[in-house]
Amino acid sequence: MKQRDRLRIAMQKSGRLTEPALELLNRCGLSFRQSRDKLFCFGEGEPVDLLLVRDDDIPGLIAQGVCDLGIVGRNVLDEFRLTTGREAAPLVELRPLGFGRCRLSIAVPQELDYQGPQTLEGERIATSYPGLLGEWLRTHAVNAGVVTLSGSVEIAPKLGTADAICDLVQSGGTLVANQLREAEVLLESEAVLAGPLALPIDERGDMLELLLKRLDGVIQVRESRLLLLQTSRSSLEAITRLLPGGPQPTLLAVAGQPDQLMLQALCAGEVSWRQLEEIKKAGAREMYVLPVEKMLA
Ligand code: ATP
Ligand code: ZN
Repeated sequence: MKQRDRLRIAMQKSGRLTEPALELLNRCGLSFRQSRDKLFCFGEGEPVDLLLVRDDDIPGLIAQGVCDLGIVGRNVLDEFRLTTGREAAPLVELRPLGFGRCRLSIAVPQELDYQGPQTLEGERIATSYPGLLGEWLRTHAVNAGVVTLSGSVEIAPKLGTADAICDLVQSGGTLVANQLREAEVLLESEAVLAGPLALPIDERGDMLELLLKRLDGVIQVRESRLLLLQTSRSSLEAITRLLPGGPQPTLLAVAGQPDQLMLQALCAGEVSWRQLEEIKKAGAREMYVLPVEKMLA
């Protein structure tokens, strides 16, 4: 097989992860020729292409070497790791991406008196995640029947095909609508960048390293704000105490005003009006809160 020299990333063709994944890649400076209805999108600036597939296929495509990377839910990645044989190339989670958050939970009928894992002894649990559920049952020494379904898991108890379910939960609305309640959380999930344990050591590897650095920059600044303000030297200590988190602020001299300083601080999250007002009371002037677009450490 001819060696590929372009990096190939697999992502969900259409679903919850599609828009946020594309936005993240765009923020990393990657753009793709518009062919969203196709399987393959050619990368325009950088040598990085996209493969648009069902999310369930993503780990397999990486394991087979068809793709170098994938953007997929931790739930799908971990399920693949648990249910595929050792002959498949090991996959790792390279970065958590902060979107597509949900949890894999066991839910039981609302009227059931749930007392802990042993309540499930001898019951039938419907799920699309037999690997993750099986592991949890083993860990808790519970003997339960696992009914594997590919979809509509939440109606299984009503249909009488299972006594409980193990499914993804976000708000819990679907559970309530089906008279179920969450009993156990098996996995906290979010979208992750998945890749092989052994990364390629050629041009693709170099591109991958560059991409990871950009990704770290994007993830780090996603919530960050840059706070700029002017203060007199005498108020500096009081103001520094009020700064919302982040690394040490940078201080700059103000030309012609030896008593004054410009302070610049990277804050880990939103800076509220309330916080600004407090800092102003402590003696700050000319305050600006700026969103951070890019950062390269
Ligand atoms: P396809 O298999 O066609 O790619 P899908 O129906 O399996 O699509 P989605 O429902 O789009 O996939 O979910 C994709 C991922 O989004 C899930 O694997 C999970 O990681 C994450 N997710 C976040 N919230 C939820 C939720 N409430 N229900 C299901 N998945 C969720
Ligand atoms: Zn799927």
